[in-house]
Amino acid sequence: MKLSPNTAPAEPTDLLIRMHNQVGAAVDVTGTPDSSYWSCHGCGYGYGYSSIDHHVDTTRARANAHAADCRAAYHRLDR
Ligand SMILES: [Zn+2]
Repeated sequence: MKLSPNTAPAEPTDLLIRMHNQVGAAVDVTGTPDSSYWSCHGCGYGYGYSSIDHHVDTTRARANAHAADCRAAYHRLDR
């Protein structure tokens, strides 16, 4: 399997959890335990900060579900 250059991007200072999608791109859960969001380095998808604060349990479940489905390893995504 060819690894994505997004397999090990720089770790944000508020990184809580890092998982990887089906092709190795990082899916990060960041923020605080009471206010977190996730983003995918493979496809660029994810929830940004909003008026709704997501507990890390919710964010982790959503990020894990995305990582299980996502096969993107975009090589020039500037995120
Ligand atoms: Zn993705």
